[in-house]
Amino acid sequence: MSDIDGRAVAAALRAEVAADAARLREEGIVPTLAVVVPTDDEGTAWYVRSIRKAAEKEGIDCRVEHLKDPGKDEIVAKLQELSADPAVHGIICQTPLPEGVTLSAVGGYISPLKDVDGANSESLGRLAAGLRTFAPATAAAVLELLKREDLVLEGAKAVVVGRSTVVGKPAALLLLNESATVTVCHSRTKDLAAVCREADVLVAAVGRAGMITADFVKPGATVIDVGTNPTDDGGLVGDVDYASVAPIAGRLTPVPRGVGPVTTALLLRHTVIAAELPKSH
Ligand code: NDP
Repeated sequence: MSDIDGRAVAAALRAEVAADAARLREEGIVPTLAVVVPTDDEGTAWYVRSIRKAAEKEGIDCRVEHLKDPGKDEIVAKLQELSADPAVHGIICQTPLPEGVTLSAVGGYISPLKDVDGANSESLGRLAAGLRTFAPATAAAVLELLKREDLVLEGAKAVVVGRSTVVGKPAALLLLNESATVTVCHSRTKDLAAVCREADVLVAAVGRAGMITADFVKPGATVIDVGTNPTDDGGLVGDVDYASVAPIAGRLTPVPRGVGPVTTALLLRHTVIAAELPKSH
């Protein structure tokens, strides 16, 4: 089995982003990512700091908009303001959101042209229709990792475990758009292990530490572990039980250092693409 090195893929992507950002700056465009933070959650704050650091390192300005105890109207107003601001090219809205507010409810106020993390359901609809759009960065990271492994996705059997609108569904649509034969599993799927064992490409996006064990994996399969589950000692583990699956899988993404760094790199790539868009309109 070989590990798929997410950090190496992210480094390659970020080098391309840095070159694009430098060119845009020479043309007088400062690629800018706005991050709306409607929470005081410490985990979110850590993630936002890491996005900002990565963005600034590659030449992208990062505008963090922290909202203190906001209601839905305040979040919507901020997203509308940023959508209308020509100096802002990419917009993401962090979770957790206040009680009773969902990302699909507020995501619709992010202009699709700036929706670099695919939070607007219009973006998901365009993805389903096979049209050009920004897919959620994590789902896009799944596909990027597979493509960089030179896998033949056309005709491959792909199983995605998880059907959320941020990861499972868009990952399934991206795989379908590559002509894979896609099965989407969820909490009501019967005999999940048997369905997963059919997969040439298995994507785990559940949020349950180590639930994908050796008996879910066909020998030689490529396994992408999207799960990030905090451990008691402050670490992170994936949805895949690495120790039992590694001897069976052909290729496997570790957690950490798998999907996570590629997700961040793709948010940045989407932002430079968004910064190019006004030139093509
Ligand atoms: P959600 O909780 O929104 O969705 C989880 C999905 O898993 C649901 O579709 C649910 O099914 C399904 N599920 C739950 N239990 C089971 C089970 N026992 N068997 C089969 N399916 C099950 O999570 P997200 O999609 O937001 O995130 C998934 C994981 O990915 C999490 O660990 C999250 O932290 C991680 N993540 C990682 C990112 C990264 O950059 N690396 C970014 C975003 C997320 P049902 O729909 O029936 O309830």
